[in-house]
Amino acid sequence: MTTETLPERWIPCEEDASGHSFGPEELAAVTEVLGTGRLLSDSGGFVGRLETAFAARYGAPAAVACSSATSAIHAALVALGLGRGAEVITTPLSDIGGVAPIAAAGLVPVFADVDPITGNLDPDSVEAAVSARTEAIVVTHLVGKPCDMTRIAALAQRHGLAIIEDCAQAYDARHADVPVGTFGAVACYSTQQTKHISAGEGGLMLVNDPSLTVPLRSWINKGVEGGVRSRTEDHPIAGVNARMTELQAAVLCAQLEKLTGFVATRVARAQELSDALADLPGITCPSSGPGELQTYWKYLLSVDPEALPGVRDRLDAELDARHAVVQPCYLHLPLFTKSLFDRHPTRLVGEPEAATGRRDAKADAFDGMREFIDRAVVLWWNERITGEDVARISDLVHTVVAAG
Ligand SMILES: *Cc1c(COP(=O)(O)O)cnc(C)c1O
Repeated sequence: MTTETLPERWIPCEEDASGHSFGPEELAAVTEVLGTGRLLSDSGGFVGRLETAFAARYGAPAAVACSSATSAIHAALVALGLGRGAEVITTPLSDIGGVAPIAAAGLVPVFADVDPITGNLDPDSVEAAVSARTEAIVVTHLVGKPCDMTRIAALAQRHGLAIIEDCAQAYDARHADVPVGTFGAVACYSTQQTKHISAGEGGLMLVNDPSLTVPLRSWINKGVEGGVRSRTEDHPIAGVNARMTELQAAVLCAQLEKLTGFVATRVARAQELSDALADLPGITCPSSGPGELQTYWKYLLSVDPEALPGVRDRLDAELDARHAVVQPCYLHLPLFTKSLFDRHPTRLVGEPEAATGRRDAKADAFDGMREFIDRAVVLWWNERITGEDVARISDLVHTVVAAG
């Protein structure tokens, strides 16, 4: 095939309408907001409705809407009241928005290693990373695959650590028949353009510890307690403004109604692709344990570099030419290599003390992470993918693997 005959794009993509389902429902909700003239509200409007529906979806006591997952994680760290300079264990393979808030909140990110196939935090490495200064863990369920929350919750309890779940990529996922997002004190979701549901930007916090609802709301509302129209005279904390608008919430209320269907399609198409690739030695498709539901923010293929030398890179290039793969930057450069850590202290598992200065991607104790980076192929995935898209991808993978 020459480049000219290639279709523009093989997979619908969440960066534009091809990978999203915005329709009359979103339009009606936005029109309703404009009709009221109240584009900011935290009582009785769409923000309130969204929070109630989101908490109910996962059986959590409360939810708080905000401006992004980045601000949600920041709010959660602040609301937990961690000690100044406390350590927070997290993953080197995530969106920077999952980890920068740790440094921004004056805390020390401690990076643990990940599983070579899933890229999720390795509970053994998390346990090895715990020190006397560790107070919390930020757990990211990468591309919608749940982390082993049974083991992570157990070790967190043993060491007295708070858990913040980063569920930006894991709407509706389940571990051991329990929704992810309900294992820790707070779980953070993103409604940015590329996520399962979107309003362009936005964030949601699922609050499992109800005592945190007031400090979470206060932090995202400039330190004011009591909501948008509160007349309090004192301002006890230096908060930020990270509120969600009614327009965003209107879109998200309509999107949330569709989420079950979105997830069902993502899961069904993923299963079709996994079935079609099951006979290929050296290719590992996503697999799920008992009681586990992964909800495929992206579809992650893992190519064994020893069984299939060079195939990962060729497959990535072929799929990239068809606009079918995402290249998240954290798959090339782990977060601890970023220059922000020239100014903020960090610690890697195995290091005795936190220190400033970015670290090298070849750092010790990250074999799992490097193997993951060498093996991963990450396909765009969303509710608009068809059986034909899946068949085209399967054919291409078979062809590239056969060519060796
Ligand atoms: C998208 C994403 C974030 C950041 O979300 P924003 O809403 O863009 O701030 C954080 N963590 C993960 C895992 C993400 O995928």
